Amino acid sequence: LGLLSDLRVAVATSQLQMWLQPKFALASGRAVGAEALVRWVHPQRGFVSPAEFVPFAEQTGYITMVTDWMLREALATLQAWERTHPALGIAVNVSTRDLQDAGFAQRVGALVAASGVNPERLRLEITESGLMEDAHKSVELLHALRAVGLPLSIDDFGTGYSSLAYLQKLPVSELKIDRSFVDGIDRAPGTQKLVRAMIEMGHGMDLLVTAEGVETEAERSTLARLGCDVMQGYLRSRPLHGAALQDWLDRELKAK
Ligand code: C2E
Ligand code: MG
Ligand code: MG
Repeated sequence: LGLLSDLRVAVATSQLQMWLQPKFALASGRAVGAEALVRWVHPQRGFVSPAEFVPFAEQTGYITMVTDWMLREALATLQAWERTHPALGIAVNVSTRDLQDAGFAQRVGALVAASGVNPERLRLEITESGLMEDAHKSVELLHALRAVGLPLSIDDFGTGYSSLAYLQKLPVSELKIDRSFVDGIDRAPGTQKLVRAMIEMGHGMDLLVTAEGVETEAERSTLARLGCDVMQGYLRSRPLHGAALQDWLDRELKAK
C-alpha cells in the first residue's frame, strides 16, 4: 500500500522510465520495432520491477496513470525517430483496467493525433488472460482501438483459455507466444508440435507470430524452423535505456 501511494508521486516526479526491448524478424535478423517496458526507480527502495507493482496498480486502477505516461513517452520517442528510424514501431502494454474505461480508445486517439505520429507505429499489447476477463466487452473495445488506427497484439498467448471462435472476432494483427512455451523448446518435441500448431493457426488468421523470451540460439533456430516470424528475448537484446538504447539505434542506422 505504501508503494502504491508512492506511485502517484512517481508518475508526477519522473521516477518512471520507459525501457525498450528490440524485436527482430527471424528470417532477416533485422529489427522490426520494440516493446516498451516500464521501470520504476524508487528513491528509497531502488529499482522496483513491474512484476512487483503492475499487478497491484491494476487492482487499484493506478495503472491508468502508468499507461498514460507510457503512451506519451512512446509517442515522443516515435516522433524523435521520425527522421532516423521511421520503420520502427513501439508496442505499449495496456491492462484490462485501461480497457474498462469507456473513454480509453478516444483518449489514446487524441494523444496520437496531437503527436502527429502515424498510428500504425504505435502498437498496443493486451494479455490473453486480460481479454478473457470480460470477453464480450473486450471485442468491442478492441474494435474501437483498431478504429483509431492502432495495431493490436495478444500478449502471453497460450496461457489464457481463449477459444478459436473468440480469437477470430478480435481485430488483432499479432500473437505473442508466451515465454513458457519458448523456454527449452529445442529439447521438447511435444512443445514444438504445439507451437507449430499455434504458428499455423496464427498465419491462417493472417497474424504475425512473435516468440517472447528467446534466450538461446537453439531456441531461436527451432522457432525459425517452425515458421515463427519475429523474436524477442535476451539472446538478441535485453530491454534498453539511455546510452545502450542509443548505441542500438546507431548500430541500426549503420546496418541500413
Ligand atoms: P510482458 O509484456 O510479457 O513483457 C515481457 C517480459 O519478459 C519483460 O519483463 C521482459 O523484460 C521479459 N523478457 C524479455 N526477454 C526475456 C528473456 O529472454 N528471458 C526472460 N526470462 N525474460 C525476458 P518485465 O519488463 O519485467 O515486465 C513483466 C511484465 O510486466 C510484462 O510482461 C507486462 O505484462 C508487465 N508490464 C511491463 N511494463 C508494463 C507497462 O508499461 N504497462 C503494463 N500494463 N504492464 C507492463
Ligand atoms: Mg508485453
Ligand atoms: Mg508477454
